[in-house]
Amino acid sequence: MAALNTKKLTQPGNVAPRIEGRGTPDADWQRWAGLQQVRNISLSELVPQGVRVLIIAPHPDDEVLGCGGLLQMLAAGDYEITLIAVTDGSASHPGSRIWSPERLAWVRPAETTEALQRLSVDDIKVVRARIQDGNVKRYQRPLAALIARLAQPDDVIFSTWRYDGHPDHEATYRAAVAAALHCGARLIELPIWMWHWARPGDPRIPWHRMRRLALDQPVIERKRAAVRCYRSQLESDDSTGSGPILPIHVLERLLHPQEFYFL
Ligand SMILES: [Zn+2]
Repeated sequence: MAALNTKKLTQPGNVAPRIEGRGTPDADWQRWAGLQQVRNISLSELVPQGVRVLIIAPHPDDEVLGCGGLLQMLAAGDYEITLIAVTDGSASHPGSRIWSPERLAWVRPAETTEALQRLSVDDIKVVRARIQDGNVKRYQRPLAALIARLAQPDDVIFSTWRYDGHPDHEATYRAAVAAALHCGARLIELPIWMWHWARPGDPRIPWHRMRRLALDQPVIERKRAAVRCYRSQLESDDSTGSGPILPIHVLERLLHPQEFYFL
């Protein structure tokens, strides 16, 4: 997920989104009638039975925060799933004496492994691109080539949303769309940081493209348990005085019994 503070972002339109402060409170989203009106989509409408799925996660934790429910439903449906982990998340704690980039580069992928086990997503191929965290834009072309090598024409590819507001998330989309166009695969986008900087009814968001995937209770409970595996992101850092990367108010926006996708 990888928060960035006061970073100017690339969204077109009048107001560039910024990932800063506490963001839009979860309660504001929950009380907004427009969110309830987002069209539902079933698993088989989102991903036809028998189709292969590629999930492209910029940072370790995006795979669960963005689509941890979908992953479980795909695994239960015997879909063939590949996770392309773009970075190892080594830039989440700049200046930390506790979390060096080297330590993060082995801890955070291990957290993903544990989280996938917690989701009972055992039969998944994980491909690590090991692109430098925070610098995906620079390696967009080799990332696109890697995705294109792994993708086939009938596959469905999931990437972070094109205007999610985080440079790595947006560069991941651009690599994914280039690969999808190259091989004829379908691309679906998932918003993560959007919930932080956007507002209910925000005109910058293509609400008409959004679909809701309902998660049943055991699925959302396993997703919540999986998020607890990302311990490096959940603890304060005494060496820098920084709070958790994923504080409660960020997590609660992402842990409802539904996930949202842009078709
Ligand atoms: Zn991320």
